[in-house]
Amino acid sequence: MEEANIVVIGGGVIGLSVAAQLSKTNEGVYVLEKNRRIAQESSSHNSGVIHSGIHYPHGTLKAELCTRGNTELYRLCRDQNIPCKRLGKLTVAVSEEEIPDLDRLVKNGEENGVKGMRIIDKQGIKKMEPNIVGEMAIYTESTGIVEPDELSNYFMSVLKNNNGTVVTDTEVTGIEDRGNIYLLRGSSAGKKFNFYSRTVVNSGGLNSDQIASFVGLDVDRLGYRLTYKKGDYYRIKGDPPVKMLVYPVPQGNWLGIHMTPDMAGSVKLGPNSYYVDEIDYSVESNSDQFMEEVRRLMPAVAGIEIQPDSAGIRPALAAHGSSFPDFIIKHEREHGHYGFINLIGMDSPGLTASPAIGEYVAQIYENEIDE
Ligand SMILES: Cc1cc2nc3c(=O)[nH]c(=O)nc-3n(C[C@H](O)[C@H](O)[C@H](O)COP(=O)(O)OP(=O)(O)OC[C@H]3O[C@@H](n4cnc5c(N)ncnc54)[C@H](O)[C@@H]3O)c2cc1C
Repeated sequence: MEEANIVVIGGGVIGLSVAAQLSKTNEGVYVLEKNRRIAQESSSHNSGVIHSGIHYPHGTLKAELCTRGNTELYRLCRDQNIPCKRLGKLTVAVSEEEIPDLDRLVKNGEENGVKGMRIIDKQGIKKMEPNIVGEMAIYTESTGIVEPDELSNYFMSVLKNNNGTVVTDTEVTGIEDRGNIYLLRGSSAGKKFNFYSRTVVNSGGLNSDQIASFVGLDVDRLGYRLTYKKGDYYRIKGDPPVKMLVYPVPQGNWLGIHMTPDMAGSVKLGPNSYYVDEIDYSVESNSDQFMEEVRRLMPAVAGIEIQPDSAGIRPALAAHGSSFPDFIIKHEREHGHYGFINLIGMDSPGLTASPAIGEYVAQIYENEIDE
């Protein structure tokens, strides 16, 4: 019988950050990951943007953990040589009607404590990004990009240096709450296993609602049910038309198709947003929606060609309706499962927030479980 002190289910950037943080003060921390390698799902199918925190409503976990994560991520990148670039971002109102949306964003950003925001006029936009045409923009100095795989690898190295363990090719398919210990069942490298742990952290990304149901939680009643919201990316061929990140004004909770330079400067467009039933990372959308956004933001630039690039799938909370879908990070003792922590609906800005999420979960563990 294998026994752990803490098991984290899911070796994405968030599960690894949580495990790394917990391993600093606890023995016997394990990450169980169903794939052969870590971080092969959302954690390597995203925009790689270090968000500033202006988008998320003040008072939400996303706002708090994103702004904190932004500062910590830049510090980590500097201290640990993780590739990142503080490129800055323009959020562009292409018409007068969109300007009030910018004002709302700035106000929200200020409430969230985002530093380095500036309103830029038409001429200013032209100076900063000569190909972009807009009436007004917000410049956010603290937005940037990071290499997501390197960040996941860093968290894994911290865990291993602290005697923690990552077990890949190991899928959890059932969990039993036996009062003072959890029995996890599943298959590891094709063989069945039983694994015991005092504490379980569910960081299963797109499967986290299913994993919560394993322990007996009613995911529909609790609002934990996920749907899959896919986003495709296209890439601009040839010379990059912008140097920094360029976003439209957001549409509701969706940030819109944006332009994101990668570490080499090549510019990705996307992601768009549509519901799917299956996890399939092939690009399914045609180029129309992407070219439309290019023409809206860069009406004077002729001859831009784009090609399909990649796709990601967001774990979207099904029950949020029109309200804001916040991260769910919850110790389930009030639902009768002491020592079981759920992380559900961990979509954007989960990459940016990952260092802060690790600390947040470690705090829950110290305050509520490790007594
Ligand atoms: C299209 C898109 C763009 C995004 N852009 C950004 C961005 O620019 N900036 C930003 O900050 N955030 C962004 N995000 C969000 C960010 O990518 C996620 O918040 C983050 O990667 C989630 O990490 P995770 O570890 O929770 O999930 P995942 O990376 O999905 O990891 C979950 C892991 O759990 C494993 N697993 C699942 N079930 C089991 C099981 N039963 N047993 C064992 N293992 C299991 C999976 O294999 C997986 O490895 C984006 C997301 C998407 C989809």
